[in-house]
Amino acid sequence: MLNIAWIDDPMDLAHWQAIQHAVLKWQPHINLTLEFIDGREGEPGEGKGDIRISVQGPGNYSLIGTDAKANDPWVPTMVLSVRPGEERFEATVMHEFGHALGLEHEHQHPQANIPWDLDKVYAWYAEKGHDKATVDDQVLGRLPERGHGFTRYDRSSIMHYPVRNELTHGDWEVGHNLELSEQDKAFAARIYPTP
Ligand SMILES: [Zn+2]
Repeated sequence: MLNIAWIDDPMDLAHWQAIQHAVLKWQPHINLTLEFIDGREGEPGEGKGDIRISVQGPGNYSLIGTDAKANDPWVPTMVLSVRPGEERFEATVMHEFGHALGLEHEHQHPQANIPWDLDKVYAWYAEKGHDKATVDDQVLGRLPERGHGFTRYDRSSIMHYPVRNELTHGDWEVGHNLELSEQDKAFAARIYPTP
């Protein structure tokens, strides 16, 4: 069982339910029961969240997999600034929860040969307030080949950032992936298998 806690006070129930709805898109594919708890101070779930969600930004991010266990129990392991009603709300929640399940960025897959135009990539992200180190870490850097776990590079993964055509050499782009891909589901099933 994985306890997923809301930790902000006050709780916005409609917002919390919208997050749950998106997170639960992973549930049919994993042999791991997802429990949603009230992790606020003084509530029964206080200090019990394996994953602790704050909706107070900035940004959207999540620790990857079991890294969450190493954190102080009062620190969020996932921040979701995206708001229900925003166009890519569910996709963003699914992406961040994919990290919580242990999935890494698909655009950083060791076999992703994205023909990035580096100068344009740095300039574009700089305008959004991201420095070079962050871009290297979250966008451009390649993940190391691992002994297991990696599946084939999948452009349709929820873990893939959009790639704007003007940021690549030639005609190369990836749109906004809004749903779990078949490979996302298969990979999740492999790391949380039915015994
Ligand atoms: Zn990500």
